[in-house]
Amino acid sequence: MAGYFKDLITGIKSLAIGMKITNKEFLTKPITLQYPHEALKMTPRYRGHIELLKNPETGSHTCISCGMCAKGCPSGCITVNSKKVPGVKGKVLTSYILNFTTCSLCGQCVENCKPAAINFSNEYNLASTRKEDFVFDLLQKLHPEGVPEPKVDPELLKKEAEKKAAAAKKAAEKKAAAEKAAAEKAAEKSGESEAEEKS
Ligand code: SF4
Ligand code: SF4
Repeated sequence: MAGYFKDLITGIKSLAIGMKITNKEFLTKPITLQYPHEALKMTPRYRGHIELLKNPETGSHTCISCGMCAKGCPSGCITVNSKKVPGVKGKVLTSYILNFTTCSLCGQCVENCKPAAINFSNEYNLASTRKEDFVFDLLQKLHPEGVPEPKVDPELLKKEAEKKAAAAKKAAEKKAAAEKAAAEKAAEKSGESEAEEKS
């Protein structure tokens, strides 16, 4: 009989402890998320694939197309394409291709970038069965609505046109001088052959 009551008290005690834990967890805010309807907020130090950063003042990137990120990348997964636009200082970025399939997230590109134009993104939700889906144009990603036209400086445009005209003039003068020298040489040669024939 004594054993029966002992078991009963132990059972009630155990039930009370269990109910205490259940009630505590019932009132605690759940830590699970209803993925994919809810997304996890990543920590600032999380390393997703790199991205071009937007300058809040200009609304565009600060990449100067120097290519130092591509040169420093041990996996060779960055391709920077740029062009010269009249009236715009330096080169204008036309595409920034990242092949994320071979990126090791080493951070060499971010360290090499002097203007701090790139950094790691918080993108963690990448999934696809196609390798091509992991090759991004970061410029397009930054401006999905369309890449804005670079700002042309009229003063620089004028200076460039003057420089181009001066270079064209110099080239024309050089060509004329070379043609003149060639003509004089030819005349001199024909004079020498005439003199030889007479003698
Ligand atoms: S994180 Fe490393 S591997 Fe990835 S793109 Fe940058 S330099 Fe290349
Ligand atoms: S991202 Fe930085 S290092 Fe790479 S090309 Fe642009 S400015 Fe140069």
